[in-house]
Amino acid sequence: MSGLAPAGDTLRAAALAAAATVPDPEIPSLSIADLGVLRDARLAEDGAVEVDITPTYSGCPAMAMIAFEVEAALLRAGLPRPRVRTVLAPAWTTDWMTGEAREKLRQAGIAPPPPGAGRAALLGLAPDPACPRCASADTERLSEFGTTACKSLWRCRACREPFDHFKCI
Ligand SMILES: [Zn+2]
Repeated sequence: MSGLAPAGDTLRAAALAAAATVPDPEIPSLSIADLGVLRDARLAEDGAVEVDITPTYSGCPAMAMIAFEVEAALLRAGLPRPRVRTVLAPAWTTDWMTGEAREKLRQAGIAPPPPGAGRAALLGLAPDPACPRCASADTERLSEFGTTACKSLWRCRACREPFDHFKCI
């Protein structure tokens, strides 16, 4: 049975590469890999290729769409038996976002959560975000909800521009 492990590794890498192309439905410039929603993949005992995803928060309405898109991406990559598992523990944290993800958010005009903010960022307990346009720290929150439930609406007192801040509750 020595041939099984390398085949599993190859399938795992192919599954992760395919799943990593799936964009976040709410912030299409970010992939689910950028966000840290894509966790792992493996060849299951029944021959299915299993991909683990962790929702940014448990009620996230985008997760069903993400699971569907991951399955489609694996099928397109020639992996005939994809299966998506939603893994709730350990809970997703903004610390799983890549540095590239934070930069892409900033470029999209959305203030990213500060690195190391962890669960506090989700609960709105992190320090106020800096303005994604001029980097001023002099900002104020206008509304708990921005353009989607995953963002709050802020305004920069320095450049007067409103901006979204990524959060997930
Ligand atoms: Zn500003």
